Amino acid sequence: MRLIVIGPQGAGKGTQSDRIARWFRVPHVETGKILRAAVRDETPLGKHAKEFMERGDLVPDELVVSMLEERLSEPDAANGFLLDGFPRNRAQAEALDRTLAGIGAAIDAVIDLQVPDEELVRRLTDRLTCLVCGRVYNSTNHRPVVMGRCNADGTFLVKREDDKPEAIRRRLEIFHRETAPLITFYEDRGLVTHVDGVGDIVEVQRRIVEALEGRGVAR
Ligand code: AMP
Repeated sequence: MRLIVIGPQGAGKGTQSDRIARWFRVPHVETGKILRAAVRDETPLGKHAKEFMERGDLVPDELVVSMLEERLSEPDAANGFLLDGFPRNRAQAEALDRTLAGIGAAIDAVIDLQVPDEELVRRLTDRLTCLVCGRVYNSTNHRPVVMGRCNADGTFLVKREDDKPEAIRRRLEIFHRETAPLITFYEDRGLVTHVDGVGDIVEVQRRIVEALEGRGVAR
């Protein structure tokens, strides 16, 4: 099963992707998370990507595409994967097509997770992240048990540089300009399922699973 989740930052894409990947028993491949780990570990890729990420800009395609190809060539991704945060523009989508064609594979379904901009800005402004495991929290419906600490590993939670107002605006603008048109790109192939991303985490997960199963995507 090869799935793509498309949605703006703050739509709950990471949280839902994690759950859906487990449900369909495929690895959750999250380009933002791989890039954040590279920045944290100060690898050559991380050093290059850092300034783009902090501004809320996209990291150049050639870097992200080769990083993704490397990840998809790992054995756990041989029979399927869920992509979260990739592709982000037309060039990346075409590169993905070429990579998959090379192994005689194709995307099975694309989930378009929809949340209005006002709600996204509200969620992102309020978001704290664990830079070790990537879990996210907020002060309204997902508070950490111990204030300021990650429930899973106790790490101090931080506000991501790109969850600050200027970068949030920039990321949403890029989403609408570069990423949202991919929905039409995949709709033309009959692959897209639109899902309302507003609501309880479990409820949104149920909507996604039902929609995918309704299209014949099976575990
Ligand atoms: P995310 O966690 O998906 O919001 O990604 C965080 C940041 O990583 C983005 O704002 C970009 O700077 C970078 N990034 C993640 N995925 C990609 C991608 N597919 N192409 C370019 N940049 C990306």
